[in-house]
Amino acid sequence: MSEESEYDLIVIGGGPAGYAAAIRTGQLGKRVVCVERERAGGTCLNWGCIPSKALLKTAELYASMKHAEAFGISCSELTFDFEAVIQRSRNVADRMGGGIEFLFRKNRVEYLLGTGRIASPGVVEVSGGEGGDRLLQGQRVLVSTGSRARRFPYLKVDGERVMTSREALVMKRLPGSIAIVGAGAIGVEFAYFLNALGSNVTLIEMLPEIVPVEDKEVSRTLARAFKKQGIAIHTETTVENIKPAKQSVSFELCKGEERRRVRVESVLLSIGVEANLEGLISDNIDLALDSGFVAVDDRYRTNVGGIYAAGDVIGPPWLAHVATFEAIEAVNGMFTNSEPRKVGQFPGCTYCQPQVASVGLTEEAARARGLKIRLGKFPFTASGKAVAVNHIEGFVKLILDEQYGEILGAHIIGPDATELIAEYVLAMECEITAHEVHRTIHAHPTLSEALSEAAAAAYGEAIHI
Ligand code: FAD
Repeated sequence: MSEESEYDLIVIGGGPAGYAAAIRTGQLGKRVVCVERERAGGTCLNWGCIPSKALLKTAELYASMKHAEAFGISCSELTFDFEAVIQRSRNVADRMGGGIEFLFRKNRVEYLLGTGRIASPGVVEVSGGEGGDRLLQGQRVLVSTGSRARRFPYLKVDGERVMTSREALVMKRLPGSIAIVGAGAIGVEFAYFLNALGSNVTLIEMLPEIVPVEDKEVSRTLARAFKKQGIAIHTETTVENIKPAKQSVSFELCKGEERRRVRVESVLLSIGVEANLEGLISDNIDLALDSGFVAVDDRYRTNVGGIYAAGDVIGPPWLAHVATFEAIEAVNGMFTNSEPRKVGQFPGCTYCQPQVASVGLTEEAARARGLKIRLGKFPFTASGKAVAVNHIEGFVKLILDEQYGEILGAHIIGPDATELIAEYVLAMECEITAHEVHRTIHAHPTLSEALSEAAAAAYGEAIHI
């Protein structure tokens, strides 16, 4: 095993947390190495955010073309090549992974392919890489090994009858029917994609609403839209005894006392994630965990001196932009005088159609806290731009502090919701009130006018409703 001279930081994991931490450390002129066992970019670029958005774009385009007559276009014999659809998403992922490798070179980040293991604080063994096994010495180690899809312990994921998102992203053919277990962002995005291309989709959620972290009104609006698109939805329902067979898979659909066996071609599990920690740390290091994820303090330090952690591996929310934020804050805290910040306001986005995006408190959470609130709501049916582009489903909803108009939460369901939410995130970060959003001139015609109209609507001053 060859031994290296000392690094200022050894990063284990090259996803949005790890690659951002490594690049930031390089920018600060420090000596840094990033150890990654698969490919730079992590889950997000290779098996998550990016390839799934490439697939969703195909679904959107296909769905729009099916309704092209609404725009005066006739489009007959519309077909698709599923293999090419998947291949395009792989090409997109590949291109993005390559981009990170370029950024590593640009920022003088050493990049080592291999599996990292912390042998002792400051010592990382790397095995399985092309250059043979290596022993790295560093003043600090950042654990950013991310997470992977949770599975049912009794059920083998075979990639055809039973899949997680990872297998679903490289499906060989479109299943005739599929049951998606779990209606969080990932489940819902796959439901939209597969249904749009013609699969018979059943979406199953054990909680009372789909996208259960969202405002109830948003969840219900999405459920209505999905049902209209042809997706079967079962809430307050669990799936038990999944039994794969040669050509199909069956399971029990359980709601209250009711149980019935259902047969479909495939099952997709989207039931949450667990931390990638196995084999990562030598047995003589007692790393503190919290509910299976690495416990960190305000400076992203673990309980073991010199070992830090950021990203999915430290727990929810499991989002790429949150992972990147945490990692950069952790590095700034290590090497600069700045006080690292913990995650405050962050947007949560779901890229099905209609899109869903939110920041801050839901109406239910604000009421449960006993806050005195005022609501502002504006439907996209009243937006000229939404009508022009034929996307009138959904609304913008603001949860405001009753006295000052401080934005406590913002919820958008509808066209480009995932882009529009940025304005409210910035407003909340800068403590800009609804009055100021209302007084800001928004270009006409744009979807963003709906943001200012929702702020105005809270005071009965919206012009278009
Ligand atoms: P990861 O991206 O998981 O990266 C961790 C890396 O560490 C991996 O590359 C892994 O190979 C490597 N690793 C693990 N152990 C070792 C080891 N011992 N040695 C070396 N390397 C190791 N989030 C969003 O914000 N928006 C989205 O639209 C979105 N869509 C998603 C869609 C899907 C289908 C999935 C699965 C996830 C999605 N996510 C999305 C979540 C997002 O991908 C994660 O939050 C994000 O990737 C977390 O970044 P991370 O760096 O913490 O971990």
